[in-house]
Amino acid sequence: MPQSVLPDGFDAYLDAWEAKIGAFIEFDRNPAVAAATAERVTSSAGPAGAPASAPAGVAGLPFAVKDNIAVEGFGLSCGSRLLENLRSPYTATAVARLQAGGAVVVGKTNLDEFGMGSSCDLSALKRTNNPWNQELVAGGSSGGSAAAVAAGLVPFALGSDTGGSVRQPASFCGVVGLKPTYGAVSRFGLVAYASSLETIGIVADTAARARSAFAVMRGTDGRDQTTVAAPAGAPPLRALGGEPCVKRRIGVLSPAALASSLGSVAEEVSAVDGEGALKAGAEAAKAAVLEPEVARAFERAKAELRALGHELFDVQLPSLKYGVPAYYTIATAEASANLARFDGIRYGKRPDWAENPEELIDKARGAGFGAEVKLRILLGTFVLRSGFQDRYYLRAQRIRAGIRRDFDRVLSGVDSVLMPVFPTRAFARGEAGLSPFAQKAADLFTCCANLAGLPALAFPAGIEGGLPVGVQLVGASFSEGLLLDIAEGYEAVHPTVRPEAYKAFWR
Ligand code: GLN
Repeated sequence: MPQSVLPDGFDAYLDAWEAKIGAFIEFDRNPAVAAATAERVTSSAGPAGAPASAPAGVAGLPFAVKDNIAVEGFGLSCGSRLLENLRSPYTATAVARLQAGGAVVVGKTNLDEFGMGSSCDLSALKRTNNPWNQELVAGGSSGGSAAAVAAGLVPFALGSDTGGSVRQPASFCGVVGLKPTYGAVSRFGLVAYASSLETIGIVADTAARARSAFAVMRGTDGRDQTTVAAPAGAPPLRALGGEPCVKRRIGVLSPAALASSLGSVAEEVSAVDGEGALKAGAEAAKAAVLEPEVARAFERAKAELRALGHELFDVQLPSLKYGVPAYYTIATAEASANLARFDGIRYGKRPDWAENPEELIDKARGAGFGAEVKLRILLGTFVLRSGFQDRYYLRAQRIRAGIRRDFDRVLSGVDSVLMPVFPTRAFARGEAGLSPFAQKAADLFTCCANLAGLPALAFPAGIEGGLPVGVQLVGASFSEGLLLDIAEGYEAVHPTVRPEAYKAFWR
């Protein structure tokens, strides 16, 4: 193993980029290169974990970790004032496995507070800019991780994906974003936002790199009872090494049809909930319409995949149109419970004085949480309040089951489903950008894979109007290898374009 994982000349490169993008909350320029954690970790990747030709390892590579994933000795701020001074006493299993494989954590990356957001602008601690254009957001919530990889500061980084937080910033920054199957990677050490939806995911410079990191991270973990081993017969995570990939049957979701079906949902809902619902529904339908540049990139990706020999079919997933409301109902419900632990007693900055414990908790949470986090906790308690679960939470769970059934039906006929990642490219801050409502409505292409627990991969389709645009493949449980194969085949004929001043330090 090399003495330092950071090459000569790297310091100046890092400083120049960080001054522009601000991806890191914390960076360790002299990272300890020691596999001290090795003996604490036992990998158990399962039967499919022994690939025919193993992907390249991660030994000697630096990587970054989103600041809601625990790494001993580093902070664990979650982008929140409340946890600004918390140092993590332990390391997440996914990180420990990468360390045991010889990779080295060099820093913690910025995020929307507790992973709640789509821009990284909801971080209470700092602002992260898009490496392609510093006036634009990096995306979120794993915006720091995506920006760091896109700028070449690390070859890969960990993020968390609850409703798209790895894939959307990857698309905005022009890199690969993998959200694994629910349970494929241990969540031990990930600060919970919405436990039933989220997974630790990977942002990487190439599909092959994402494959290497995923191969090391996955597997069952006694400290996360929701983990499952890949079943025998799951597509292998083999290294392609320039080999042409197998021709696949790819279902294509029509973004235009989905956007227009949202109009009918608005009418359905307004029959019960009145004028306000109709207006909100119309706004949601508008937010789902692809920006022309994104539509162009999507068409280009289809043509390119066909040219690579894949067969493309139109498919329909009718329940997707209910995905966003179901997602935000379940995500906020779980968030309201998960964030109850931050009371200024067990965790969180404690106020200087309080008359009694209730006041202490009030003060700690009042000062510590940002407005979006408070909004979501309130929404969560609203949808769960007694007597109303039927109307919101249980209905959302039924929609969730319907989405899963839709995917199961479609994926019994095709190998994966191609869809956009997000209706827009990286957007601007404030008025010129997307309203908070539109940002949520625009999660429709990403949040459904989380509701269904399926693996999804965002990869760069190309550059449109000077900005990267990603597309997304969703597959059956544990089909990550297949999705990565398709993306790697695409990359081979369509090499990923990097932002100006990018230097390739990592092999
Ligand atoms: N934009 C979504 C949200 O705010 C996604 C977040 C995530 O995946 N962590 O909930």
